[in-house]
Formats: sequence, C-alpha cells, structure tokens
Amino acid sequence: MRLSAGRVTEVGKNLQGTRYLDADGLHLFPGFVDVHAHWRTPGREDEETIETGSAAAAAGGFTSVVMMPNTDPVVDKPVIVSGLVRRVEKESRVRAYVSAALHEGLKGERLTEMRLLKDAGAFCVSDDGLGTQKAGVLRNAMLYAKSAGLPIILHCEDHTLATGVVNDGIAAALAGLPGSPGSAEDVATATALVLATETGAKVHITHVSTALSAALVGFFKGRADITTDTTPHHLTLTDELVSTLEGLYRVNPPLRPDEDRVGVGDALKSGILDFVATDHAPHAASEKDLPLEEAAPGFLGHETAFPALYTELVRSGKLSLSRLVEAMASAPGRWIGGGAYGVSAGAPADLTLVDLSDEWTVREDALVSRSSNSPYLGRKLAARIVGTIVGGELVHNELGAKFGARG
Ligand SMILES: [Zn+2]
Ligand SMILES: [Zn+2]
Repeated sequence: MRLSAGRVTEVGKNLQGTRYLDADGLHLFPGFVDVHAHWRTPGREDEETIETGSAAAAAGGFTSVVMMPNTDPVVDKPVIVSGLVRRVEKESRVRAYVSAALHEGLKGERLTEMRLLKDAGAFCVSDDGLGTQKAGVLRNAMLYAKSAGLPIILHCEDHTLATGVVNDGIAAALAGLPGSPGSAEDVATATALVLATETGAKVHITHVSTALSAALVGFFKGRADITTDTTPHHLTLTDELVSTLEGLYRVNPPLRPDEDRVGVGDALKSGILDFVATDHAPHAASEKDLPLEEAAPGFLGHETAFPALYTELVRSGKLSLSRLVEAMASAPGRWIGGGAYGVSAGAPADLTLVDLSDEWTVREDALVSRSSNSPYLGRKLAARIVGTIVGGELVHNELGAKFGARG
C-alpha cells in the first residue's frame, strides 16, 4: 500500500512508497469510527480532555469520533461549538466531530438554533444522556433538524419508566436494587421510529440494548432514514455483574439479561443494527468507587471495544471478523462521510493495524484515558491495536521502528 499526502494512492503487495509499513502478521483495517463519545470537555477535564480522549480513541484504533454535547456548559450555542471546533483542530489526535444539543440545556423544551449551530461547525444534534419525553416536542425537533440538514443522535429513554439504577429483572431482585424495565427503552425507541418515518428526518438511534428494540428497528428498516448502533458492553456483558453491587457496573442503558445480549448481537450480525459505538464515558474514581445506587452511570469504551468484541464474539464464532470491521469502520464511516469508506486508492489514509494473535490484560495503569472505569478491568483480551493512522500520520504507535521513511 502506498500513501501520499495523507491519502492511499495504491493498494498492493509491493510496498515501495516513501513511507512503508512492515506489517508482517498484522491485519490492516479501515480506521474505526466511534459515533458516540464523551470527552468531558468543557467542564470535567479532570475526567477526560480532548487530548486524552483522542489518545484513548487512537489507542483503540479509532480514527474518527463524534463528541457528545452533554458537557458543562452544554454545547447548545454557536460560540461553544466554534470554540470546540477550534480546540479539536489543535488538540485532537484523531478526526473529532462536534455535536450540539437538540434542545437548550438538553431540557427537551426549547429547540436550539440548529442552523446557526451547523454554521458554527456542528456535525449533528443530540440530547444524549436524556430522552426527549414528549412526542410532540421530539417531532418538532426532527422537523427542524431536517430543515437544518443535521442528523440527530437519539438516546431513547422514557424517564417515567426508567426509575431504577439497573435492569429490572432477576439480577436486580437478587441484588435488592431498584430496576428500570426494558420498556423504558422500547417505548421511546418505538416513538422515535414512528416519528422518524413520518418526518423523514435523518435519525441515528444510539446504544440499542434490548432484543425488542432491535426487533422494532428491524420493522422500520427501509421505511425511514434511520441508522442504529449498539455498544461493546451490551454485546459482551450481562446484568449478572450487578450482583457485585459495585458502582463500576452502573451504566445507562443498563446491562441487560443474556436474552437481550443475544438478541442485540443477532441484530448486529444480520445488519438490522448498523454500527458499534462505544458511549465512552469517563468518570472520576470518586463517582464510581461507590455503592451501585450512588455511582454515576457510564463505562470507558475506546481502548477495549475491538479487543472485547474480537475476543467474545469473533473468536467464539458468533460474528465474522468482516462484519465486525463493517460495523466498527465501514458503516459508521459512510454515515460520517456521506460516501464510500475503506482501504482503497484515493481514500483518506485512515487505517488501523491490529495484531490479532496478541493477548493483553486490561489494567488501570495501562489505560490511556484519564479515567479508569472500564468494566473489563482485570480481563484478558485478545487482539492488540498496534498502529492507528489518521490522514497518513501515525497517531498511535506500538510498532516501534517498523514504521518509517524509506527513500
Ligand atoms: Zn445515552
Ligand atoms: Zn452517551
């Protein structure tokens, strides 16, 4: 493969360009794309910054990331968007896209000035962290986002049903923890799908975590301009972990029973669900080293996404490697770029190099993120990301001298 001016100019077996990769035994994939991350900037730079978040993304093989707007202050004004866009250009190792709020203060009441937000550089709009509670309000938001030409990322949750801290089921009952039923997600997902169909807005439903929500998406597929993602943790972990009562395992939507994990996995395999997105959500130890009921919800995601999915799904034969790469790179890449995405001549050289034969243990001190709330801590995972290339530049390098210039 040959790279020139940040683009792939030639794909072949003979490497005779001015830069070369000695990639013997490694797998080269199109760069992974994460449409859902919290880099906690502005406001909680003690948990993550653009610099550390993008370094964690690069360490996980991600070359493009969408930053969520539920920061402090909320990204709901053009001046905040333009400030973030400028900072990202200087501080991010990977391509970072700024999303803005759908409603002022994420409150689900007054719409933001979406056209101005777009002019300031917003890539999409989202009230992530919260669901929009009133269907009429959500419908107006979809119509306005459509007229502004902005995609919407929706966190589907009915707060009148989501009154607990874990999934309502056997695990919650055994642990004595208040549960939220799966319907808290399903009812909101159904509403969003109906309204997306009617309005024709470009809607992306994020972190689908129940088998029923996945089935609903299947019904609406082809009827609306919708895409969806699910997370590595909903594909690999279940609510049995809440029996530990540890705050580390609190996340929203909550970890679900195995039937949901399997249903969501089947939907990803068949293409009903389109992407994997991490919902990378760093939290300070003071917010996670607590009893589960008091902890902040959220997991780190960037650095373990591909290894966890490769270990749990691909190696066990439940998902093909090519479908995983499609879900982590090609499909979200097309969504972000609006066209073809992959390793081909003329494409931007956004690439990820993985050693599938390597194994590593997830340890707090080895994580690049400023926080350490990974639900995989202590687990041994297969597949190590050894190189991440953005626009022809190596932004994560465990290759050492293998990457260099050659005359
Ligand atoms: Zn969310
Ligand atoms: Zn989120």
